[in-house]
Amino acid sequence: MNRIDNHLPTAQLQAIDAAHHLHPFTDAAELNRLGTRVITSADGVYLTDSDGVRILDGMAGLWCVNIGYGRAELAEAARRQMAQLPYYNTFFQTAHPPAIELAARLAQLTPGDLNRVFFAGSGSEANDTNLRFVRHYWASQGKPDKTIVISRRNAYHGSTLAAVSLGGMAAMHGQGGLPIPDIEHINQPYWYREGGEMDPAEFGLARARELEEAIDRLGEDKVAAFIGEPIQGAGGVIIPPETYWPEIQRICDEREILLIADEVICGFGRTGAWFGSETFAIRPDIMTIAKGLSSGYMPIGASVISEKIATQFEADAGEFFHGYTYSGHPVACAVALENLRILEEEAIVDTVAERTAPYLKRRWLELGDHPLVGEARIAGMVGAVELVAEKACRRPFAADEGAVGLICRNYSFANGLVMRHVGDKMIICPPLVISQAEIDELVALALKTLDQTHAHLRAEGMMVARQAAE
Ligand SMILES: *Cc1c(COP(=O)(O)O)cnc(C)c1O
Repeated sequence: MNRIDNHLPTAQLQAIDAAHHLHPFTDAAELNRLGTRVITSADGVYLTDSDGVRILDGMAGLWCVNIGYGRAELAEAARRQMAQLPYYNTFFQTAHPPAIELAARLAQLTPGDLNRVFFAGSGSEANDTNLRFVRHYWASQGKPDKTIVISRRNAYHGSTLAAVSLGGMAAMHGQGGLPIPDIEHINQPYWYREGGEMDPAEFGLARARELEEAIDRLGEDKVAAFIGEPIQGAGGVIIPPETYWPEIQRICDEREILLIADEVICGFGRTGAWFGSETFAIRPDIMTIAKGLSSGYMPIGASVISEKIATQFEADAGEFFHGYTYSGHPVACAVALENLRILEEEAIVDTVAERTAPYLKRRWLELGDHPLVGEARIAGMVGAVELVAEKACRRPFAADEGAVGLICRNYSFANGLVMRHVGDKMIICPPLVISQAEIDELVALALKTLDQTHAHLRAEGMMVARQAAE
C-alpha cells in the first residue's frame, strides 16, 4: 500500500489543528492544551500515528470499521465509480446503478419484509428521516395526531436535532433547549446500575413494560413509534436482559405503533448475526443502518422500511418533502456494495459467530476476575467492563462519574490499545476481522491497563465507593 508519510511534524500538525479545527464531542480548550493525536494510516486492526507508533484499534474507529483497515478493493471500487459517475442525484425521476443495486442488496440481507431503502449520509440523518417518515406515514393514514416517538434514557441515535432528541443523553439535551417536542423517554434496561434488588429477567420485563405504561399514559392515538438500539452502544454497551426485547415486541405487536430498530452499531455482523434484530428476535418496521454498512470507508446511512408500511405510504402519502443531496451517493453505494461482498464472500459474519466471538467472549469475561471490575459483559464483538471500587456492591466511585474511566483510557492509549470510556465503563468494539492472536494481545493490554489503573487509584486514595444514599 502507498502511504502518505510526507506530513508535517506532529507538533506542527497539533498547532494547526488547535488553531483551525473544531472537534466533535470535545472540550476544545482542554484538547488544545493536551494536543491532538494524529492518526496517519491503518492496516487490519492497527492504527499508526504521526510519530510512527502502532496502536491496536479496539473500537473499530467509531464502531464502524467492521472489515478492518486497508482493504484495497474498497479503494478500487471508489476509484472505478468516481471515474464512471462520481455524482448524480436520485430526486427528479433519476437513479443510478450503485443506488439501485445497494437497495436491492439491503432488501435481501435485512430480515423479514424490510424491503424498501431510503438513503442518507449518516446514521443521524437516517434517524431524522425516520422521524419525518413515521409522522407523515400516520398523517397519510388519517391519523395526524400520532406524532410522539418513545425512546429510552441514555439511548444514542445521533447528533442532528431530531436524532439527538430521539437519543436520551441528558448532557446533549442540556445544550440548546432539546429535545424537540413530542419525544418521550422511558428508562433503559441497564441492570448493572439500575436493577436494584431485581434479578435481570424480572428487571428486563419491568423496563419493557414501561413502554406499555407510556403508551397508556400518552394515548395510543398519539404515539407514532418506539425506537431502540438492540444493544445500546454509546450509552456504554448496555446489553438488555433476555426478557426485554420479547416483551417490547409483544407490546408493539399489540399496539398500533411502529417499531424502529437502530442498527447503526449492531448491524452488519457486530452481534454475531447480520443484524442485532436477528440476535434478539426483534421484528422492526424500520431499521436504521450506517457505520458498518460501508465499514466506515465512505459516509452512508439508510432507513430500511417494511414492504407493508412502504406500500401504504406510497399509496397515500403523496410527495414526501424530504431528502438529501447525497441520498444514495454513487461512490458511497459502490463502496458499501464492495464491503458487503467482502463480508459475505469471506464469511466474516460466520467466522465471528462460530470462532472469534466465542473466543473473545471467553477471554473478555476473564477480566471479570480483576479487583477493579464489577462486571464484564459482551455480545458478539462488542463488550464492556464496569470499573468499581467494591466488586460486591455495584455502586459507582465516590469520584465524579467518568474520572476513573478517563484515567483508565489514558493508560490504555499509552499502552497502544484504543478502548473508549463511557463514564466508568471501558468498552471495546474491535474490527470483526480481529484474529485470535490479536484478541490475546487486546486482552493482555486491557489487563495491563486495568492493573495500572488499579495501582493509580490505590496510590491516590480513589478506591472508594459512593455512599448508598447519594
Ligand atoms: C453512531 C450512531 C448513530 C449516528 O450515526 P452518525 O453516522 O454518527 O450520524 C445513530 N445511532 C446509533 C446507534 C449510533 O451508534
